[in-house]
Amino acid sequence: MTGQSSDSEARRADLAERLGRVRRRIADATAAAGRADEPELIVVTKFFPADDVRHLAALGVRQVGENRDQEAGAKAADTDDLVLRRHFIGQLQTNKAKSVVKYADVVQSIDRPQLVAALGKAMRREHERRAEDGLPDRGTLEVLIQVDLRTAEQLERDAREPAPEGGNRAATLGRGGAAPADVHSLAALVEEDPNLELGGVMAVAPLGGEPAAAFARLMRISRELQQEHPHATTVSAGMSQDLEEAVAAGATHLRIGSDVLGPRPPLR
Ligand SMILES: *Cc1c(COP(=O)(O)O)cnc(C)c1O
Repeated sequence: MTGQSSDSEARRADLAERLGRVRRRIADATAAAGRADEPELIVVTKFFPADDVRHLAALGVRQVGENRDQEAGAKAADTDDLVLRRHFIGQLQTNKAKSVVKYADVVQSIDRPQLVAALGKAMRREHERRAEDGLPDRGTLEVLIQVDLRTAEQLERDAREPAPEGGNRAATLGRGGAAPADVHSLAALVEEDPNLELGGVMAVAPLGGEPAAAFARLMRISRELQQEHPHATTVSAGMSQDLEEAVAAGATHLRIGSDVLGPRPPLR
């Protein structure tokens, strides 16, 4: 046996154990909440290599998440033989829309009208490109509206305090999103675009707050959204640190990175 393949086997065993622990936590939290339906698990593979994506797929993972276009695109190309639902969960510049629609099945981070327009346009081009190349059509792109769950108090605090050293940690972790008051108008824009499909909402619990309170707020926003858009049932919430609170609140999708893959390298 080569050193390389035994390294790979050790990594798979490590991932299997961590994944097993996370799956048990999800099952326990689901039972504790008296829920019949277990939320879907999206494993966030950012910072980790395509080989890990391969191990995870072999271990039964069906959905993965990434937050940077360049890294996500390269990894998707390396693993395009795998049947995976690929979620883009990071802040997205409009000039990256064209690239993201080539590999993403879902974009979870819709936070402004310009991004809706850019993704709609990129999807139209993607349809044309595929038709010209004789490739099968890819259908619509599912999008979630990312909601900024910071309270008035937290917004004030963040305005007072400069960004922590080491750059924009908030952006790297996907903090941000649309103000709750803007969810309705963004949803209407998405629904107007025949290439986009409104899936629901996504959020990250604000730093230094109670995740349970933040997720309760997200659930209220989701219920309001569903009154107008009954099919928009997805609530993507919950990361390694707060998955139990997200399951208790009623999340339909969890985005778990470090508790499955191990600690990430320091944020750049
Ligand atoms: C990185 C990331 C996650 C996963 O976070 P972990 O704490 O590693 O589980 C979830 N959601 C978003 C938006 C992220 O950027």
